[in-house]
Amino acid sequence: MTGQSGREPTSGREPASDRKPASEKHCRLCPRLCRVDRDAGEVGFCLAPALAKVSQASLHQWEEPCLSGTRGSGTIFFTECNLRCVFCQNAEISQGHLGREVDRAGLVSMMLGLQERGAHNINLVSPTPYIPQIRAALLEARARGLSVPVVYNTNAYETVEALQTLEGLVQIYLPDLKYPGDAEGEAMARRYSKAPRYFETATAAIMEMVRQVGPLVLDDEGIAQSGVIVRHLVIPGHVEATKRVLDWIAANLPGVPVSLMSQFTPYHRAAEFPEINRRLTRREYHAALDHFFAIGLEEGWTQELSAADEAFIPDWDLDSVPAAGGPGPSGSEKRGSK
Ligand code: SF4
Repeated sequence: MTGQSGREPTSGREPASDRKPASEKHCRLCPRLCRVDRDAGEVGFCLAPALAKVSQASLHQWEEPCLSGTRGSGTIFFTECNLRCVFCQNAEISQGHLGREVDRAGLVSMMLGLQERGAHNINLVSPTPYIPQIRAALLEARARGLSVPVVYNTNAYETVEALQTLEGLVQIYLPDLKYPGDAEGEAMARRYSKAPRYFETATAAIMEMVRQVGPLVLDDEGIAQSGVIVRHLVIPGHVEATKRVLDWIAANLPGVPVSLMSQFTPYHRAAEFPEINRRLTRREYHAALDHFFAIGLEEGWTQELSAADEAFIPDWDLDSVPAAGGPGPSGSEKRGSK
């Protein structure tokens, strides 16, 4: 693991954009362009309802060190997802619908409650289907005293237009870049995530994120205040694909730190895909690591192989999610990682 260094403290961000979400009525938040009217009860590919749906709000210690810090990242896990990753470790919430619908007041209450409990940031996990709801909640939460940075923790399968509505409201973008931009990457995206044109979509989204918030900035205690961190999960049998993802980042996102994740666990439907129905081998892990360092991606983080453990999959705590009009989160801390 390598640390961040030599970065200046953040300066204040511009005020929130007045740009209205373009997708509230006929959902175009992601490239699936379902155009459903969720306010009228229609659902698209992701099955997300009109209200935001949340499965847990808790202090989380297992993000990158600049996010978890000493007091934890104030993590809000959203239910439903616009991908269908067959190895998703959060499948109970991303595809199993476990969660509770919350209104804007509930979202604001969770954000302020996590800040009161000492969270270094508010970490929105899988937020894409709820961008308009999150935007409204962030505007209110900021007006009511939310002062910690907001982390947008995403699979990056979303439109640039949707992301533009968050400009000035999100300080830290934490996107995945899952698959490379070639025929093998496209085949992987379709086979493992049901996500055509994943690479084109995700890279356009990441470039927009970089445009909005610039390079990673840490405070004097090493806690992230703004910027972009790109995550990549190494998939068993696909280390060459990992190398091409890392090559693209090194060539196109100079100075953007990368978090190389080795925590792949054959979870959810992985047994239906024999070629990935196992953990990484030590040889694969070291091949990915060697490439990471060989192309100069020192400004980032790597994981130990021991991170691949189902013990890191959260034990979902719906009691931490307030019912509409209810109090803020009070649930115990849970282990987990996206
Ligand atoms: S967020 Fe959901 S409903 Fe909206 S376009 Fe994407 S998959 Fe369809």
